[in-house]
Amino acid sequence: MTEKQVADQVGKWMKLFQLQQWEIGLDLKKGSSVEANGEGQVIAFIEPDRCSQSAVITMAMDNDDEELKNTICHEMIHLLFFEVETLLYALVGFISDEQIREVMGELVHGRKEEFVIRMERALRNAIPT
Ligand SMILES: [Zn+2]
Repeated sequence: MTEKQVADQVGKWMKLFQLQQWEIGLDLKKGSSVEANGEGQVIAFIEPDRCSQSAVITMAMDNDDEELKNTICHEMIHLLFFEVETLLYALVGFISDEQIREVMGELVHGRKEEFVIRMERALRNAIPT
């Protein structure tokens, strides 16, 4: 995929998810994976910043186009879910018991990823890329 094709895909999901208020930057890297904070090696990750309403998608470009397209969709669902996620993590932060807080944090994280993956699969079948 070219940078322009990536930008077009991002634009498509922005429009579909009504995320046009966001400014999305691309950090496209060589190689088949990138190191994500605390997640190890992944194809891509997104870092949203609520204050500036901007996000950066870091993506390893040496993957096949289909995989990259699905990955862009995946990261854009993360952005769509971001505000709910922020709220959930804020609530978890209020739990005073450290052990419970940790378990709840992991639960939120796991469920979030599961939700994003399910949405990605559903959209992949419903919407032509
Ligand atoms: Zn994910």
